[in-house]
Amino acid sequence: MNDTANRRSHARLGSTARILWSVAGSHDIQVDRLRDVSPSGALVATASVTRAGEEIRFDLLDDRGERFATGLAKVVWVDATRGMGIAFLALGIDPSLIAALASPEAPAKVLPPRLPGTVGGPPPFPGEHLVAARGGQVGVGVDTASDVDESDVDDEFAPQIEPLAVRRAGIIIGIDLGTTNTCASYVVDGQPKIIPGRTGSNTIPSMITFDPDGTSYVGQRAADRQILYPLRTVYGSKRLVGRTYRAQTAADLQEHFAYPLAEAEGQRFGVRIDDGVISMDTIAARILEEVRSTAEAYLGVSVEAAVITVPAYFSEVQREAVRRAAREAKLVVQRIVNEPTAAAVAYGHKQSQKARVAVWDFGGGTFDFSVVDLSAGQLEVLATGGDNFVGGSDFDDLIASHLLVEFQRAEGVDFDPDPQQIARLREAAEVAKRALSVQTEYLVEIPEFTREPFKHLRVEITRERFDEFTASLVSRTVAIATEVMLARALTPEDIDDVLLVGGTTRIPAVQTAVADLFKRRPSKRINPDEAVALGAALLAHEIGSGDAPTLLDILPMSVGHARVGLAFVPIVARNTRLPTHREVTLDADILGEVAMPIFQGESADASRNEYLCSALVSDRALQDRGRVIVRVSFDEHCVMAIDARDARSGRKLVTRLDRARPLEDILRDLGKPDTGAPSGAKPLAVEADPWKLPKSRLGKVLGKLFNIFGR
Ligand code: AMP
Repeated sequence: MNDTANRRSHARLGSTARILWSVAGSHDIQVDRLRDVSPSGALVATASVTRAGEEIRFDLLDDRGERFATGLAKVVWVDATRGMGIAFLALGIDPSLIAALASPEAPAKVLPPRLPGTVGGPPPFPGEHLVAARGGQVGVGVDTASDVDESDVDDEFAPQIEPLAVRRAGIIIGIDLGTTNTCASYVVDGQPKIIPGRTGSNTIPSMITFDPDGTSYVGQRAADRQILYPLRTVYGSKRLVGRTYRAQTAADLQEHFAYPLAEAEGQRFGVRIDDGVISMDTIAARILEEVRSTAEAYLGVSVEAAVITVPAYFSEVQREAVRRAAREAKLVVQRIVNEPTAAAVAYGHKQSQKARVAVWDFGGGTFDFSVVDLSAGQLEVLATGGDNFVGGSDFDDLIASHLLVEFQRAEGVDFDPDPQQIARLREAAEVAKRALSVQTEYLVEIPEFTREPFKHLRVEITRERFDEFTASLVSRTVAIATEVMLARALTPEDIDDVLLVGGTTRIPAVQTAVADLFKRRPSKRINPDEAVALGAALLAHEIGSGDAPTLLDILPMSVGHARVGLAFVPIVARNTRLPTHREVTLDADILGEVAMPIFQGESADASRNEYLCSALVSDRALQDRGRVIVRVSFDEHCVMAIDARDARSGRKLVTRLDRARPLEDILRDLGKPDTGAPSGAKPLAVEADPWKLPKSRLGKVLGKLFNIFGR
């Protein structure tokens, strides 16, 4: 039995067991004490106003902060003095395990019969408090602004490690949710296996088509419809899932999407279909639903749980969006795992020797570079970095542009292609790109490309030419990898093996660049297309059997707050080992309010970073020049939680996480000239413009085609 499984057997439910819950359909997650739990329901100490009859989604954490169950429940009664009683409707583990988990000191009690209850009221239990969270365990840390000693902090929220091993009945599948393709997997007889899609291929295209008659198709059937309905077929949604919508960002990104981007509910990115906008988060849920039903059809059993992989460089909101999408697809997420980590698991399968590997993960839409230390039963990510806007589809766009330019030059014509022609160009470009991975020239043919004049497109591309016009994409990845190693003072010589992951690593120029940087050939031990999915399956299986390795992860991008003048002040730095927690002290205004907009990224200009949410605190006791200590915590799954306390009295304060206020308003307020910014605000460093994808002829056409922003 490994260490984790050992810890599991000592799990207990006592005074610090917690429940993370949200009213179904809402994103506001509360953290409360779990007073009693039984196989049929639980008693929760909460001050929250919620109604009997409401459905809630929840995660249950034991005393060590280990998540031992996830599910859906109904609030059966609410009592102003006792909290609320919930009855489980769906539970992510075998209910009998609940009783087994309770310790003799705190035996599981059967939920009392329904009691007539009242709603609302003041906090029912002395010493109880509410903590706002985006899900996950909270922790305690040092005050970065006022240098509070770490020994000052109360132990109640001491950080927890590794809540991986959760025995559960039923199969847990692994899902590699890719930008281009999604791949599901499971373990049979100790071996990870891919679950084939409906058409027998190993992957499901991450695409959805919304036909004009209202029917929608996911996967291969959507890919087959792309040329017929180019404006109604969504691809690459993973690049936008969870991200906060901004008109200017959308205008810039539109050049890389051949369907109209628009703002969806909750300041999310979406696609405009007829008169409505469908959010990318909903699209991710539809793809996951398709994966689940395909897996169920193939395995012949119901599939309710999964380990899902995401790029290491995904921000907190993007991870949260994938979790929500999984919930919508009726999947209990056992763990969100970084793609490079999953690939390293596949690499390390059945190997016990220590190794330091570099994972070069170049997929359809994203690039990630990570350095991972492998040893028996443990994977430790040392450093990571990436870009969610450089991937295989950008090579396609550059080839498509090349084809268009060459065709127009040969025919002496100049026109903007229509959506169908764009779709045909991109499809032909992808085929050409794959061909050029194995041959040095390729003749692209698109019959009847134009009708007036009636012309076929015939353009020959050599690998040399292809390498020339895609060189900037490859050098971008080399620059990221070099910077990641530098940030941890690592050199290529410190790396034992290099793993190539993702279809784009099949491009010879990519392989040459990797070999040049590391002065050696990359490993042949893993299949770049399947390693992530297979690693996810192995982890899923090991979690299911309570024997998962310890995954020590890091925060991929700094998280901080924005101050007047749009200065970004990091609170938790990039590459910090998880779990972690840091504190910052802020002045309340005369109304006793504090609003702390939280961003993630590395730019000193907050507006260039990803907006996560705003932490809001409002309390009368703060009106007289009060100060608030805000604590930002990340659990080992990279899930963020925020809570706050009064700096003078140490009293916990109700903290709300808000995403409703328009980001543009927040930026406008912050953008005001800095008239005496509060202490601690960092001056804006002069920094280079961030790297952007090269401009292409196709990009210009797409920008013009969807001239939604009046440019
Ligand atoms: P993945 O995220 O691993 O599914 O990567 C998919 C990306 O890899 C897509 O952009 C594919 O076009 C690309 N890809 C797959 N096979 C090849 C190949 N043989 N040569 C070049 N690119 C490829």
